[in-house]
Amino acid sequence: MSSPFQLDSLPTLSRSTVDRQEALRSNPERLLTRWPNARVVLLDDTGRTPVREGESSLATRKALGFGDEPPADAVFLGEFEGVDYWSLPGSPEGDPVTVRMQGSWGIVEEVPRVDGEIWVELRGYGDRLDDTSAGLFTTAQALRNWRRQARFCTRDGSPTHLTQFGWASKCEKCEREEYPRTDGAVICLVHDDSGVNGEHVLLARQPVWPPGRYSVLAGFVEAGESLEGCVQREILEEVGIDVHGIRYLGSQPWPFPRSIMLGFTARADMSATLIPADGEIEEALWVSRAEVRAAFANSEVRDADGELIPTPIAGGTRTMILPGNSSIARVMLDAWSHAEP
Ligand SMILES: [Zn+2]
Repeated sequence: MSSPFQLDSLPTLSRSTVDRQEALRSNPERLLTRWPNARVVLLDDTGRTPVREGESSLATRKALGFGDEPPADAVFLGEFEGVDYWSLPGSPEGDPVTVRMQGSWGIVEEVPRVDGEIWVELRGYGDRLDDTSAGLFTTAQALRNWRRQARFCTRDGSPTHLTQFGWASKCEKCEREEYPRTDGAVICLVHDDSGVNGEHVLLARQPVWPPGRYSVLAGFVEAGESLEGCVQREILEEVGIDVHGIRYLGSQPWPFPRSIMLGFTARADMSATLIPADGEIEEALWVSRAEVRAAFANSEVRDADGELIPTPIAGGTRTMILPGNSSIARVMLDAWSHAEP
């Protein structure tokens, strides 16, 4: 008898080796002593960071290049193998040229290159980074995105400044403190009711997605709602069917701008009529395990322009490209596709 499928690899942005060293955020002396040996992760105004071309680690900078102590906007990310890591805003210097590379959803996009470095974004490049770099970039991105939204006090509208080396902000008038926020979002792989893991998976596409993109269903957790309640509500809202047997699989931070994706699986009656939500879901359909496996087998094949080639699904009436390499949806579909029914 087969067993319920589980994620068999860590989602790419859940990887981390860095010790966050939470206690050091309130220990300026120690952090200042360590600053001369620290490294800095730069993020430009679109959230990109430099990597040396062809390498899987971030091209960090020497901290001392930014002064004898951390600038006011420096964010302490943590420590790894005796070295502290920080993040600061920064942009490509010199005379960058534009090059084409694979971005999010596997789509070719243009990025700046200068001095043997390319400036990459997390969603498109995260899966090519080593564990340390993936963790640093994800945390830096999450804190940057929060800070961009937290410049003013939500109580009285006064300016705020960063405290705890980037991990809190404080109102300059009423001293109200705010901490980085993360919005919970559920994402659920729904399969049919046969056997333990089903024979078909429910995929859908949003009208705003590029052609051929399908994924599992997802939605934000509402105030006062349980995660299971959210799974049930979102699927009913988006495709009009009831699910049961809801089971947790795993999670991944998704700082675009500030979510954590909570991965679930659930079962549904495949004969129930799918009713895609107007404007939100363009199409929903059941796809067989063999078709999902074929999509994975075909997932790195590209045409002459470097674009991914879609795989036939739904008996050849549609074609699909898998969710992006950095998404938890892809890890969920991969695990389900090679589980026994
Ligand atoms: Zn205030």
